[in-house]
Amino acid sequence: MDVFADLVGQDEAVATLRRAAAAAAAVLRAGAEPADPTAGGDPGGGMTHAWIFTGPPGSGRSVAARAFAAALQCVHGTGCGQCPGCHTTLTGTHADVRLVVPEGLSIGVGEMRALVLRAASTPSGGRWQVVIIEDADRLTEAAGNALLKAIEEPPPRTVFLLCAPSVHPDDVSVTIRSRCRVVPLRQPSADAVAEVLVRRDGIASDLARWAAAAAQGHVGRARRLARDPEARQRREAVLAVPRRLTGVGAAFDAASALIEAAEAEAVASVAELDEAEKSALQTALGAGGTGRGAAGAMRGAAGQLKDLEKRQKSRATRAQRDALDRALVDLAGFYRDALTMALRAPVAPVHTDTAAVAGAGAEKWAADGSLRRLEAVLECRAAIEANVKPRIAVEAMMLALWRG
Ligand SMILES: [Zn+2]
Repeated sequence: MDVFADLVGQDEAVATLRRAAAAAAAVLRAGAEPADPTAGGDPGGGMTHAWIFTGPPGSGRSVAARAFAAALQCVHGTGCGQCPGCHTTLTGTHADVRLVVPEGLSIGVGEMRALVLRAASTPSGGRWQVVIIEDADRLTEAAGNALLKAIEEPPPRTVFLLCAPSVHPDDVSVTIRSRCRVVPLRQPSADAVAEVLVRRDGIASDLARWAAAAAQGHVGRARRLARDPEARQRREAVLAVPRRLTGVGAAFDAASALIEAAEAEAVASVAELDEAEKSALQTALGAGGTGRGAAGAMRGAAGQLKDLEKRQKSRATRAQRDALDRALVDLAGFYRDALTMALRAPVAPVHTDTAAVAGAGAEKWAADGSLRRLEAVLECRAAIEANVKPRIAVEAMMLALWRG
């Protein structure tokens, strides 16, 4: 199992990245420089200084970026998954791989300048300095400009890996886009997701197939649904919302319940990762050391742990927002099912387990009413994206769903 094994249903992207990793290894052997992507042609075998991974949430943008980073640091140049270069990159402890997780809801210019500066240094492992920017669409404009400068005149051994939903100018500036090679990831098919749940996570195939369909192509979500009974309960609570909207009071209650469920899901989703990162860092720092230099090392360690906790806190905030968005996607799936049934469209329902309820809704609301409700959910998502307070947006949506 190499570092690309977890990139589900992304054969094309994986082939591109394997070629680039091989080219990068050849560059190191030859002591040459990677190709300039604006120069035309493909003289470097596809290796270049700046990459953008795009795709819908859950398609594996950051998984792809990390896997590629590991392949670049792999002592065999392939991403074998076994060597120290691969291993430390995947566990987040490689000295020449930096991961940027947006602070709060956007990546600020200060953080970006510091990062660009450090990325310009010579790689301590003798291979590449890799900077992974998750959610590059959340860069502030000033931070984007700082990054652009670095991408326009990249230090010879520095590679930037950006992740964004798309290369639409709303997500990534045209100038940054023009300096990067794009690796588009697709929404993996339910079959591909189910297959990886069975193979990698040892999940029974019936459960894996159900979870893959219910998660609508989101690999991490499918895994959580398959493994975590509480995640299944939270999803059921979301899908019970349409039945519970019997009056104004019930609509407000449903709004509170949805917000609280999102908070609970966020806590659950980051807990495992937080703990793994913390213990990896503690291992790397050699916690509990004694003797000469240990006191100084411990002081440095305390600072690094504090940094990690800060990053984890900002990730928790983001996770809450993302969890609410997933709940809204589930809910949109329900009204989409009602709409397709009202239209008698020949498509499979998103939620097989609530198909009967959606069918009853389709009878009652007809196509018009189903469409209005679907639009109410989508408007709520857009409002939250535009920074309307989530509770207000969700309350407005619940009232609209009740009124019809
Ligand atoms: Zn390796």
